[in-house]
Amino acid sequence: MKARVTKQCMGDRNCNKLCPEVFKYDEDQLLSVVQYDMIPEKYEDLVRQAAAECGADAIEIEE
Ligand code: SF4
Repeated sequence: MKARVTKQCMGDRNCNKLCPEVFKYDEDQLLSVVQYDMIPEKYEDLVRQAAAECGADAIEIEE
């Protein structure tokens, strides 16, 4: 699975709280960024949850 955060991110950091291993907040770009090219299997469910919960619909997943 791959994931990315689009420019639609509004920076509320919900994904960072949900899965800090995958999502980090970039203070320069003012949006969250994904730390992995391929998401480790153990984090996949959390990444799906983060995408579902993202109020800005900014997390794109490629299964
Ligand atoms: S949950 Fe969505 S809007 Fe909030 S920081 Fe993460 S990607 Fe951005």
